[in-house]
Amino acid sequence: MADVKYKRIVFKLSGESLAGEQRFGINPEVVESIARQIKKVREFGIEVAVVVGGGNIWRGLSGSNKGMDRATADYMGMLATVMNALALQDALESMGIDSRVQSAIEMRQVAEPYIRRKAIRHLEKGRVVIFGAGTGNPYFSTDTTAALRAAEIEAEVILMGKKNTDGVYDSDPNKNPQAKKFDSLEYMEVLNRGLAVMDSTATSLCMDNKIPLVVFNIDNHENIVKAALGENIGTTVGG
Ligand code: UDP
Repeated sequence: MADVKYKRIVFKLSGESLAGEQRFGINPEVVESIARQIKKVREFGIEVAVVVGGGNIWRGLSGSNKGMDRATADYMGMLATVMNALALQDALESMGIDSRVQSAIEMRQVAEPYIRRKAIRHLEKGRVVIFGAGTGNPYFSTDTTAALRAAEIEAEVILMGKKNTDGVYDSDPNKNPQAKKFDSLEYMEVLNRGLAVMDSTATSLCMDNKIPLVVFNIDNHENIVKAALGENIGTTVGG
């Protein structure tokens, strides 16, 4: 087996990245392509936990901005992540990759409940664990979920695939042609400069627990394998 940098990773997959061109809902071809890359990562013996977002279906904030109760809108967002989790599991299993979905909101017919020790056991057995329903609490994000689960399962890194960008810049590269990309930076700089990497709750959690984050471009799915192998792509935060 090749010498690998990480033994256990958390891969944060935004809902948006499952939507493909239509930018809404789930595109099965895109999910399959991402699953294929996860399979390759597994073939290197790296333990993979995935935290899935739900923004391709529903975001709590957009509901509450239109007058919905925030907590209700957030629970809808959490349910959306479970749909994405099931789609990813289906694609993985069709490729012969064992996987388990663990939901932070109990729904026994659909997924296992989130049990930390069980999740670790699955990973040790080589199963991909997909965490659905975020943290199970409104007012949080799936970025915070990635930080929380990474701390809980003692993952060495969070890999965060982003669309339309290849890392963290000092200003918006779409608006400022002079924007400078960081190869690496510290969490404190992210907070102090107000850089749009993750929300501040997720950033603080990663910082306090010393979990490095790699932000990379997921428009090319092969970057998933490169990031998992520790290749120098994107931006490393707190590394
Ligand atoms: N959400 C939540 N608590 C959590 C995680 C997620 O309430 O712990 C809700 C929130 O409404 C969020 C939605 O689920 O907008 C979808 O998650 P997110 O926006 O993080 O998904 P992504 O942007 O990664 O697709």
